[in-house]
Amino acid sequence: MFMRYSLSTAKLSTMNKKKKTNKVAVVGAGLSGLVCAQALADKGFEVVVVDKGRQPGGRLASRERDPGFDYGAQYFTVSDLRFREVVDGWLEKGLVLPWNGRFAIAEQERVGEDYSLSPSSPRKQRYVGVPKMNAFALALSCELAKSATVLTQHRVTRLEIDSDSCYRILGEKPGDSSLEQVQSQGESQEGAESSQESALDCFGLNGFNYVVLNLPPLQVAALIATAGGALPAILQASKCFESVDQVELSPCFALMVQFAQPLALEFDGIKVSNSALAWVASDSSKPGRTGENWVLHASPEWSHLHLEDSLPDVSAALLTELGLLTRQDLPPVTFSKCHRWRYALAPNPLAVGSLLDSANKIGYCGDWCQGNNIEAAFLSGRHMAELIVRDAS
Ligand SMILES: Cc1cc2nc3c(=O)[nH]c(=O)nc-3n(C[C@H](O)[C@H](O)[C@H](O)COP(=O)(O)OP(=O)(O)OC[C@H]3O[C@@H](n4cnc5c(N)ncnc54)[C@H](O)[C@@H]3O)c2cc1C
Repeated sequence: MFMRYSLSTAKLSTMNKKKKTNKVAVVGAGLSGLVCAQALADKGFEVVVVDKGRQPGGRLASRERDPGFDYGAQYFTVSDLRFREVVDGWLEKGLVLPWNGRFAIAEQERVGEDYSLSPSSPRKQRYVGVPKMNAFALALSCELAKSATVLTQHRVTRLEIDSDSCYRILGEKPGDSSLEQVQSQGESQEGAESSQESALDCFGLNGFNYVVLNLPPLQVAALIATAGGALPAILQASKCFESVDQVELSPCFALMVQFAQPLALEFDGIKVSNSALAWVASDSSKPGRTGENWVLHASPEWSHLHLEDSLPDVSAALLTELGLLTRQDLPPVTFSKCHRWRYALAPNPLAVGSLLDSANKIGYCGDWCQGNNIEAAFLSGRHMAELIVRDAS
């Protein structure tokens, strides 16, 4: 349905010299993409942000329906002064609050042995979004929509160069019929997801002088590999792409579970080592939440080993491990849902801020360019915008 154009290396490297460099597509509305987009829009760039998710925020993921859970990022801390300033603004608006939970470390000498639990006092204040972790991403996106275009449920599947030698992004979005089905199914997210699969429309957006990919590195590589014409070879030959290729994000299973009675644990957040579990948290202990809702994260090693297991099997295994940790029979489960994060955390981030392939006007940002947490995602988005502003001037 879309016309395709091929181009030569020479043409791509000179393509923006004759263009006014002010229109940017940001693929991915994670925190990094949102921050980058806002900084560029503030500098007068025309920005379009495109995300495949139902909502922006990416790994700042919260279950919207009752019972609610934060099943991606759990909390954040602040070190950098630029992030401090922004977080202070979120605190003033009530978008985030300190989480003064009771924290502990759980260790097993050997897998299968009893856990020893000891209280831990965090070195830094922990903050959470209120009422859910995604609150500040949603607020950023609403603010951004005043000066840029933000498109959700738009999955980018292909990059091309259009007839004006600018980038074109192509992809899929739910068709009109699937949107009607979603509305008639009310809030059923599961139903909505399956109906989207059956009725997709294509979209194409063009005229971009720059493209920013705020995606996990493997997805960056996949998108570039399937780009049109000579584009894959050109982009893969750059130094920036070499760096992208060095980083991998490890997987993580997140189990959301609600119990009929309180769990026999005197802690709200437990870091677990040498176990199938890496993290156990009382979601309900965070400010603005109620209930007996817990989130369990599997360790990267265990998640790797069990990546293709069925979600019921994974849920059962993680609940068994929780029983060993509490040393008691667990109360009846009134709700549970397991999420498979194929790309969760970067064990070997780049620590470069972000990457701009200046010759080809394509940038890469995300936590993995800088670190492996929310603050790193924020800093990477800011860094990306600074590089583009400098490059375009
Ligand atoms: C289980 C888990 C626990 C975590 N715990 C913590 C924690 O406690 N503290 C902490 O600080 N950090 C934590 N993190 C890390 C934190 O969530 C990330 O550092 C941060 O959210 C990354 O933001 P980002 O913008 O770099 O990427 P992402 O949030 O991953 O954004 C990428 C975006 O790209 C979109 N996308 C992907 N492919 C396409 C496509 N083809 N087309 C369009 N859009 C696409 C996605 O939908 C997503 O919105 C955790 C992460 C996970 C998964």
